[in-house]
Amino acid sequence: MSAKLFDLSGKTAIVTGCNTGLGQGMALGLAEAGCNIVAVNRSEPKETQQRVEALGRSFLSVHADLATTAPIDDILSQAEQRFGGADILINNAGLIRRADAFEFSEQDWDDVINVNLKSLFFLSQGFGQACVDKRRQGKIINIASMLSFQGGIRVPSYTASKSGVLGLTRLMANEWATKGINVNAIAPGYMATNNTEALRNDPERSREILGRIPAGRWGSPEDLVGATVFLASRASDYVNGHTLAVDGGWLSR
Ligand code: NAP
Repeated sequence: MSAKLFDLSGKTAIVTGCNTGLGQGMALGLAEAGCNIVAVNRSEPKETQQRVEALGRSFLSVHADLATTAPIDDILSQAEQRFGGADILINNAGLIRRADAFEFSEQDWDDVINVNLKSLFFLSQGFGQACVDKRRQGKIINIASMLSFQGGIRVPSYTASKSGVLGLTRLMANEWATKGINVNAIAPGYMATNNTEALRNDPERSREILGRIPAGRWGSPEDLVGATVFLASRASDYVNGHTLAVDGGWLSR
């Protein structure tokens, strides 16, 4: 009985930024649990496609640059045409820019906020509306960060965006819970992906970070799969507006 709660057979998930890193790990985890995948990327997600199809699931690649909201209608209509719509939305695409707060440029502010926060909101709005129109249950999972809870250093637009993701997750959950849409977030800790390459290549920062992680290691994309399947499945039907840290204990220190 309990395993059925996590079964995603026949469901369709839109996953943004899944050519690599955490997005790829979550797409593969969802496919393993039974989902077809609508992959939204700037570049062809060839490896992800190959691995999802090897699991016996269908895969649709939608080319989109989420620096603007322009591609959102097309993403949703392609999902509609191919799969009759999507049940799950993973807002994962994101970027980070690093510079001292005194030096930080307006370009680095806008580039990060546009993808991490603005497109996340408007894609959620379009997905949520489609669920309501079709009377379909929806699950939205936003990818937050430790910097949804903490200030960080040298990443002002990233901190603003990820703190905003936590707030928006609550707001959307408050408005849409009665409409059958669960909105939650996952806050990954320090994970070994392109996003943290600069930190991992800096011996001092890398030592400091690792020394503070109770689990004693950087996280991997596979570490997010359990939380993702949980929040995408019936098992989380009464979980709304929560941001779940998957951080090896970082926030507990
Ligand atoms: P990553 O390997 O750099 O992946 C980021 C993904 O976002 C890539 O697929 C990237 O596509 C996509 N993306 C960036 N800008 C885009 C745009 N304008 N349009 C469409 N897609 C775009 O890093 P990651 O660690 O897997 O990051 C995934 C998410 O987790 C991000 O939201 C990040 O902030 C968050 N996160 C990561 C960590 C960590 O420790 N790694 C911790 C907390 C939160 P391209 O490959 O084409 O650039």
